Amino acid sequence: MSSKIIILGSTGSIGTSALRVLRFLKNDFEVYGLTCYGNLELFEEQLNEFRPSLAAVASNDLIDKDEYKKITNKFPEIKFFEGNEGVVELVRNKADVLISSIVGAAGLLPTLESLPFIKRLALANKETLVMAGDIVKKKVNEFDVELIPVDSEHSAIFSLIQNADKGSIKKIILTASGGSLRDRTLEEMASITPEDALAHPTWDMGNKITIDSATMMNKGLEVIEAHHLFDIDYGSIDVIVHPESIIHSMVEMNDGAIHAYLSIADMALPIINALTFPDSKANPFETLDLTKVGKLEFLAYDNIRFPALELCYNAGRIGGTMPAVLNAANEIAVHAFLGKKIAFTDIVKIVEKTINDHKVIDNPDLSDIFAADEWARDVSMSFIDI
Ligand code: MG
Repeated sequence: MSSKIIILGSTGSIGTSALRVLRFLKNDFEVYGLTCYGNLELFEEQLNEFRPSLAAVASNDLIDKDEYKKITNKFPEIKFFEGNEGVVELVRNKADVLISSIVGAAGLLPTLESLPFIKRLALANKETLVMAGDIVKKKVNEFDVELIPVDSEHSAIFSLIQNADKGSIKKIILTASGGSLRDRTLEEMASITPEDALAHPTWDMGNKITIDSATMMNKGLEVIEAHHLFDIDYGSIDVIVHPESIIHSMVEMNDGAIHAYLSIADMALPIINALTFPDSKANPFETLDLTKVGKLEFLAYDNIRFPALELCYNAGRIGGTMPAVLNAANEIAVHAFLGKKIAFTDIVKIVEKTINDHKVIDNPDLSDIFAADEWARDVSMSFIDI
């Protein structure tokens, strides 16, 4: 029998990769539900090809538009859900696997709401754990859901530690490409345009995460994500710059041995692993040819040019509502940078100022977290001159 799968954010970078994988796993999985924000053209193609039972469009602005009505008329056999509330309603249908790949804070609520109705959560939305790691993990345990990371670094660590005794792990080492601005000076960074920052050397990803990669905020969010996923102290999570993006992360053992996980930079493998674990499936896509790679390079990251990483370590250590505030302020600042309203170097400054103004709530409940998120959006906006 095939497993029912729901993809949140099917038109995004991870969503389209997931559907690419599911074309090859169509005997094992039934695409049961798809959601998108507002890319109706691609969504229509996906509905046409995969014929899910359920579909949702999150953007409320589109619901009254002719393009949307045309799609609902074209697929009368699909049940449509509308707006952000519609996405939450959709996940209250029983499925075997949910791939959570909505970008940003918007992914948290539908991911949480899905937990009573699914067996496995394939998590690509790192904000879910950054904002509400403790709440999410408690609910994952309560409903006995398997939580498997799709983020490439965490997928690598997840695979590496399967056979390791937890007590014998000294630390985990997240690799970072260094992003599009790895070799720029601090002076050059001040005048970086969105176009410069969006040209990522090794990974082809969505705009938000590519900018986060350029500031290294993405790696910082991944440190917080790793802390929650693997129950590991911040002091035992290292970051190293590895420009080739071939080693996706490493685990260092107490005896000094370092285990590394190598593959090409393609999300297909983490997605295949998240869907088929613990079985191993043949990967139909391009795999790694080490002779073509030649050599691998490793560098310490530069705190001065990339202050975002320390900021994330600190916010993670403080915990409570602080990581949600960091994340929300960063979303606002990245959006402002992409809209050419602030300089590249202002992104992290705005996040830092917002964090400094925040009064942390320890052991927050979900409403505290959403309130902190909203507060951080308002405060960070006030730092942006428009
Ligand atoms: Mg990653």
